[in-house]
Amino acid sequence: MDFHFEVLKTDPTGARLGRLTTPHGVIDTPAFMPVGTAGTVKGLTQQVLTELGVQILLGNTYHLYLRPGHERIRLLGGLHKFMSWPGAILTDSGGFQVFSLADLRKITDDGVVFRSHLDGSEHFLTPEKSIEIQQALGSDIAMVFDECIEYPADRSRAAGAVKRTTEWARRCREQFRTNADAATNSGQALFAIVQGGAHADLRRDSARHLVFLDFPGYAVGGIAVGEPHALSCEMVAVAAGELPKDRPRYVMGVGFPEQIADYVRCGVDMMDCVLPTRNARNGCLFTSTGRVNIGNAIYTDDPRPLDERCSCMVCRTYSRAYLRHLFQANEILASILNSHHNVAFFLDIMGKIRQAIAFGELAEFSSEFQARIEAGES
Ligand SMILES: [Zn+2]
Repeated sequence: MDFHFEVLKTDPTGARLGRLTTPHGVIDTPAFMPVGTAGTVKGLTQQVLTELGVQILLGNTYHLYLRPGHERIRLLGGLHKFMSWPGAILTDSGGFQVFSLADLRKITDDGVVFRSHLDGSEHFLTPEKSIEIQQALGSDIAMVFDECIEYPADRSRAAGAVKRTTEWARRCREQFRTNADAATNSGQALFAIVQGGAHADLRRDSARHLVFLDFPGYAVGGIAVGEPHALSCEMVAVAAGELPKDRPRYVMGVGFPEQIADYVRCGVDMMDCVLPTRNARNGCLFTSTGRVNIGNAIYTDDPRPLDERCSCMVCRTYSRAYLRHLFQANEILASILNSHHNVAFFLDIMGKIRQAIAFGELAEFSSEFQARIEAGES
């Protein structure tokens, strides 16, 4: 299957219902992508992900490059085969992790020298190297290597990052084309990433430069890095306004359940977030009436399901009291069940959002969802 995207319907709010075709299946958009950092969505087997309806997941280039190594994965047939995942995979460029996790040594126009957070070994990541790694992994969607900046970042710093990101996107595209024969997945597509911090005009410039380079899809990066949510949405909307309507748009690393529809209304088709799995392991569960810290003593004798509105296996099968017990006792099953529910919950929200767009009722869906969360637990 060739890479292909079509918008099936646009809601009055600006939200889009679409269909993204990849070499590993069709993805209904807007789509939520669980994060499978090191070739696994922590706590969930690939069989469970399939049962939950996951059509695409995210793999982290930085982690897979350091361990077990992209060449090893290439020799084992690519990431899909390595992890026995039949669905689609998007790999990030490694940029975000290098800038946030690793011990940075030097950033130049050439690339980034960093020390591994695992063993302190020194590495040099360039746009070309990032593409080479992602081509070895064989993801369906690869991302350009971009410069991620902190919030707040002043104008000159943000402008510098935009300039470097554009130049790096051009180099990534060049490498992606010239090295195409070595790619594990011949149908792989490369997306660009709009930067610009919290500066609307820089976001616009960044998007225009990248659109000129002509990519099959575009992401908005550097969102939800500490700025207020309204500002995140404003920046995404500004960027989306410059992006071609017939290409998929992806906001990286967002968001909380109550924020997902806001991004969708900005015309966003794809999102990923570690929240459902990371928070699950810390006992923070997302429900239709807000967040539940399952370690809380008030759940000790609570026989009710975690979320009465959720039809996932966990909510159908177990009580809050049992989930609380597992969490307090540090049982492995706590992480498994908590991750299962949280990922199911995020996927369910996206499914309901798609349905609402289809019926032209996204605004109603959002206000009902918000009202339930504000009303709190019943
Ligand atoms: Zn559930």
